[in-house]
Amino acid sequence: MSRPTKRDRFIAAHVAPSAAQAPTLLDEIPRIIQLEREVEDEFRGQMMQRLKEKIEDVDRAMSGHAPVCEKCHSSHPMKSRGRKKRTFITRFGEISVWVQTYRCIEEGCGHTCRPLMDALGIETGRISGMLARLLALLGVVVPYELAARLAFLFFGVEVSAMSVWRSVQRLGAACEQYSEELARYHADPRTEVEEPAEAPDAVVLGVDGCALGMQVRDTSERVSTAARQSVVRRALVTCLGKADQVFDLLWSKLHELCWLGPKTVVVIVGDGAEWIWNRAKMFSNRCEILDFWHAVEKAWEFARLRYGQGSKVGEKWMSRLSTDLRGGKVEAVIARLRRITPSCEEEREKLEGLIRYFDTNKQRMRYDEYLRLGYGIGSGAVESAHKQVTHARMRQAGMRWSESGARRLLALRVLLLNDNWSMLDRLMMAPVV
Ligand SMILES: [Zn+2]
Repeated sequence: MSRPTKRDRFIAAHVAPSAAQAPTLLDEIPRIIQLEREVEDEFRGQMMQRLKEKIEDVDRAMSGHAPVCEKCHSSHPMKSRGRKKRTFITRFGEISVWVQTYRCIEEGCGHTCRPLMDALGIETGRISGMLARLLALLGVVVPYELAARLAFLFFGVEVSAMSVWRSVQRLGAACEQYSEELARYHADPRTEVEEPAEAPDAVVLGVDGCALGMQVRDTSERVSTAARQSVVRRALVTCLGKADQVFDLLWSKLHELCWLGPKTVVVIVGDGAEWIWNRAKMFSNRCEILDFWHAVEKAWEFARLRYGQGSKVGEKWMSRLSTDLRGGKVEAVIARLRRITPSCEEEREKLEGLIRYFDTNKQRMRYDEYLRLGYGIGSGAVESAHKQVTHARMRQAGMRWSESGARRLLALRVLLLNDNWSMLDRLMMAPVV
């Protein structure tokens, strides 16, 4: 008998002896799901009704008080223009309310207002309030089309992808404006800031492209020598298209979080880009670190040229170099590099570039010390933050972003990742063109 071939073995493993049967679905939806749906259907109408009643209560409490014109502050109260039906979509579905409108009788003013809408804090557009915030939440996590479908599955409210987009844009714009104003406030030298009573010993800033991550490492709370365990809190700041503004946002965030005390060391991990070190000077008590992996990659460029791609000698040379760098022996490494005799012009240029790079940055390459202090030596944290903040939502197939659209979405994603989503309850949606 011949041995079974590969094909025989495949058939034995994958093809059942009898003909394939169509899979079956349950005849009936399980009772518990039915009951859950029943309760939901039963109470949705009631919740909507109750919401309507509560709105009417607010309206009743206000009626009979003709407002004073906000625009011209006329001594004549505004004149009633009757009630108009306003429809908006709430967390429980579409709702219509008769809203009293007033108009200023002063000549040339003509200002109109709807005190009920103002009292309720209803924003422009048909979707506002709680539903707008829930839609925005879905929209910052998944594409808008999918978010609209999820909204129906979760809340039973039918909305279009465009509505989700609009909620994200309006809330994102509000959020962006708020942090920009806060940055301006903290950047103003006239702003008096109270020094926080309990600021951390060290704050580690990692700067990468358009995303920026921050971590607080509280060395006093460290329980073991493992640097990883010293990370206690993290906050993210992003800034798209306005790289120069990054440090202003960062400065304001640090104050907002009360992370900048008189003794706090601000640790900045950078990839060697000059603008980062220039802006970092705003922190008087700072420690600059050249990202270890950038330093190593720079050396690899030379090693590959001298020893060839994948060469064992090159690997050994690199392994010694990175061990020495990690051990804080950057001076010794530079001295050794200076003793190398390049074999060609290209190699000489690469070598000189490498020596210059290490020499310029040697004060930022005391890696043994940084590791001992628990500061970390690489910007891996910010790179992973970058992925979390932007790539996970924004770098999907076929996606194109306008700069303003991307910035607003980013503002909301950062809010979510910083665990600060509830702040949106206290921001009014901004009009978006
Ligand atoms: Zn007026």
